[in-house]
Amino acid sequence: MLTKEINSTLIPTLKKYFGYDSFRDQQLAIIESVLSKKDNLVIMPTGGGKSVCFQLPALLFEGITLVISPLIALMKDQVDGLTANGIPADFFNSSQLSSAQNGIFDKVINKEIKLLYVAPESLALLENILNEKHISCIAIDEAHCISTWGHDFRPSYQQLGFLKKLLPNTPIIALTATADKATRQDIVDQLNIPNATQFLSSFDRKNIELEVRPANDRVSQIIKFINKKPKEAGIIYCLSRKSTEQLASKLNQNGIKAAAYHAGLSFGERTKTQEDFLFDKTQVICATIAFGMGIDKSNVRWVIHFNMPKNIEGYYQEIGRCGRDGIKANAILFHSYADVIQLRKFAEGASNEEVQLAKLERMQQFSEATTCRRKILLSYFGELLSDNCGNCDVCKNPPQFFDGTTIAQKALSVIARLKESEATGIVIDVLRGANNATIIDKGYDKLKSHGVGKDISWRDWQQYIIQLINQGICEIAFHKHNALQLTIFSQKVLFENKQVHLTYPVTIAEKAVIQKELRETKVKKDSLFERLRKLRHQISLEENIPAYLVFSDAALKEMERARPMSEAEFLKISGVGQRKLEVYGNEFIAEMVSFINEKVQKKDDTYKVTYELYKEGLSIEEISEKRDLKSATIFSHLAKLYADGKDINIYDFVTKEEVEQVLKAKEALESPEALKPYFDYFKEEMDYSKIRLALTILNS
Ligand code: ADP
Ligand code: MG
Repeated sequence: MLTKEINSTLIPTLKKYFGYDSFRDQQLAIIESVLSKKDNLVIMPTGGGKSVCFQLPALLFEGITLVISPLIALMKDQVDGLTANGIPADFFNSSQLSSAQNGIFDKVINKEIKLLYVAPESLALLENILNEKHISCIAIDEAHCISTWGHDFRPSYQQLGFLKKLLPNTPIIALTATADKATRQDIVDQLNIPNATQFLSSFDRKNIELEVRPANDRVSQIIKFINKKPKEAGIIYCLSRKSTEQLASKLNQNGIKAAAYHAGLSFGERTKTQEDFLFDKTQVICATIAFGMGIDKSNVRWVIHFNMPKNIEGYYQEIGRCGRDGIKANAILFHSYADVIQLRKFAEGASNEEVQLAKLERMQQFSEATTCRRKILLSYFGELLSDNCGNCDVCKNPPQFFDGTTIAQKALSVIARLKESEATGIVIDVLRGANNATIIDKGYDKLKSHGVGKDISWRDWQQYIIQLINQGICEIAFHKHNALQLTIFSQKVLFENKQVHLTYPVTIAEKAVIQKELRETKVKKDSLFERLRKLRHQISLEENIPAYLVFSDAALKEMERARPMSEAEFLKISGVGQRKLEVYGNEFIAEMVSFINEKVQKKDDTYKVTYELYKEGLSIEEISEKRDLKSATIFSHLAKLYADGKDINIYDFVTKEEVEQVLKAKEALESPEALKPYFDYFKEEMDYSKIRLALTILNS
């Protein structure tokens, strides 16, 4: 059991080293369990905050915490993050020189570090420190790699069972985002920790907006999306290596810094690509699922699935890589039937074909949902949401149903006339009365129903047919070249007039959105956030660490909002711990002060400009037009300039009689400071500008 003393140090330690004021979800319970030397299995979604669960206890243990992590390439990043927080840590790997390795042993023996990261392959080399004198805790990150059930199986993870035997009293904490039972059991069995306490956290990542779009013109949709967020990093997942390369090159042609990442690249190339992404040198990574494990870049703002993922676990893990900092992030999935067909082919013939197909089906149901998508996702992980999330495309834009019986009948009759032998493309061509070579060759232009659906666009037909398939009104025969076929429901629709409800196809009101966002980016350009981001970038170059390790986007956003002007206030920002206050505090506070001073300066300048135009003899209307400001604003400038003693013929704008009237009002009114009471007093017959000018005269 924990003593009260330790317990009461946890929050201050969290703040001091990590800069956070409170624990998330189960973090506290997990940390207490680790500190009481129990074994633990932690299941938390990607981005949920697993690292703190072993990094914080590491600070309180006597010896070091050994962290087993699968990816050598990313250990440096994790160690840099800890160092930036003032936590001494290092990593050990086989590529280091033996002198460097000896240096690390010394650090362990002299208790100079709190955490040591190591890949399972290198454990054997740690022989002389692998004992309970030096090691207080063992964390096994990405623990699902141990299981052949998991999707990232790594043989080297399977030898880890020896750790418990060698260090029986050292607590083990295994962490993963993979929730399925088989994998969990496997982890516990193989690590020899049968009594591990299991912590299963909520899988809800509320800040990620979920969206599914039809896959038409994917590339141009993606380019438009990225152009609206020119500084935001994102990941695009593709099904094949080739498509990652093609997409990256198209993005580059369009001026977007993108790189491809897949297992076919050399280790060096992959490391470089990863690093450029972490350092914001590459904005977009087009990757296969090989990319992402262990990437803790907190300012990935979006994830796009160019193709449909194989299952919901994969999808959720991948989208979890955006918005780790807890602020708004976007996940967009492009849905196409071609992908479904492709994925089915992959699954067929696999040893666990049935399972794979069932998982694919759940994924498809999610993509085609007409109810809250988050509810569907979370229910997959056994969590039930009572309310709709309000942060998915279905919640934001609930589908509108209409009577689609005639549309359905038209489609079904074409399918019937084509003898259930053609795939969606040809069915739509016939519906739309196309006269292309295939249609004429096959004589489909002679069919009675050729052209019955002319009035509906190709794209809309495609979506209606998907809806019909989802409702079981027709189906795809995957084994017969994906031909559309009739079902028992088809008969009811065709011959018994069974009603069919369809929803209007999604139209993305891109134009309106772009206009709005363009305006927003214009405003954002000289925002405090941008200034802080620049400063962060500069520091990241100087220190050679990724920008998000200096401060997360969330921390910068909070600084923008709170504008801390003293060290004490700066420390209150979530994400600012003791070391970051000491190292970066002054610079950031100075930046905020100068930003605010410039704003004041700009205000002074604006009066100057108005004064100069006024002296040139321009009328109020002309000044207002020239400066693109309201005339009321120009009047207020003149009032200020007059009050400051500038040479303004103020009686050109307000008569002596009006000033007298205002004076009377001033004596009569109860609260003569505000303008509104005057306006009411004059029954709205004297405008605000005149009132203001008269008051200026009276007050000066
Ligand atoms: P995981 O390993 O579960 O994918 P991480 O440990 O990388 O997630 O944490 C994700 C993000 O959440 C990190 O940026 C981390 O700093 C942040 N975080 C963790 N715990 C907290 C907390 N208690 N309050 C605020 N942010 C936190
Ligand atoms: Mg992690």
